[in-house]
Amino acid sequence: MISFGPVPSRRLGKSLGINNIISPKTCTYDCVYCQVGKTLKKGIKREAYFKPEVIFEKVRQHLGRLNKESQPDYLTFVSNGEPTLDINLGKSILLLKKLGFPVAVITNASLLFDESVREDLFKADWVSLKMDAADNDTWQKVNQPDPGLDFKKHLENVSHFISIYKGMLGTETMIIKGLNDSAEIFSNLAELIKTVNPYIAYLAIPIRPPSVKTAIPPDTEMMNMAWQIFNKSGIKTEFLTGFEGIETGFTGNIYEDILNTTAVHPLREDSLINLLKHDNADYEVVKSLIKQRLIQITVYNGKKFYLREYHTQF
Ligand code: SF4
Repeated sequence: MISFGPVPSRRLGKSLGINNIISPKTCTYDCVYCQVGKTLKKGIKREAYFKPEVIFEKVRQHLGRLNKESQPDYLTFVSNGEPTLDINLGKSILLLKKLGFPVAVITNASLLFDESVREDLFKADWVSLKMDAADNDTWQKVNQPDPGLDFKKHLENVSHFISIYKGMLGTETMIIKGLNDSAEIFSNLAELIKTVNPYIAYLAIPIRPPSVKTAIPPDTEMMNMAWQIFNKSGIKTEFLTGFEGIETGFTGNIYEDILNTTAVHPLREDSLINLLKHDNADYEVVKSLIKQRLIQITVYNGKKFYLREYHTQF
């Protein structure tokens, strides 16, 4: 299937997904947390997959079947592997733009050394760069890159790309227990991501079965710490935790407000109290959510925070 959705996306609103990589899963990385399984074809050489005209036609037909309310906010390349391995990505982006929707690409950024990849991505309105590691050791452990890739050069290429790219730039960091969830790693990552200057940095955790069974979410306290460290560095940071697409804010439904907000932001105690006030609710609701193990309390820097509680099922 070339196109799917639109699916609600915290990042992009309604996002019509485009998978431009033909099976088997082909990637420059073999991330331990990958949700589409082990990389079956690892490499850094770009290839032709679907013809851009075929992608365009499939997406055009797909859009034609959607009613007015379901029209997407973005057409998003999110593939069964690394979308920039597709040598025709740029051509496809240009064709798709004729449909009148902005185009996004979610990439692991590993091919930015290739000028043709950079040129292709410059055509996209929105690009998300994967940034799980700020040092080679962590990069090897978490992303298991192709041996043809070099971490130092990778960082230089990212830096070169961002100095020219004019569209919306985000970063995405997956946090894995025991691999990249220490205070030192968070600080180094924050320092690195600050230089990228994304309009938003997303922190994610594995929420579906990962490629390697031991790739599990960090403890809630560590997620909180990551958010605090990023936030303190002046980076606008949000969690991507699988509760995408549901509006947060004061809806009058205190259960949803707390669950949706804590899914992307740890709620500080004073903010939570404020939320209760807005929704005419009292603390009993919070107690009930804690009892149901839907949220939990954590203390950071002497302040109480409320976070979603995640249960690992694998
Ligand atoms: S870069 Fe993306 S597709 Fe490739 S292995 Fe990592 S998570 Fe999977």
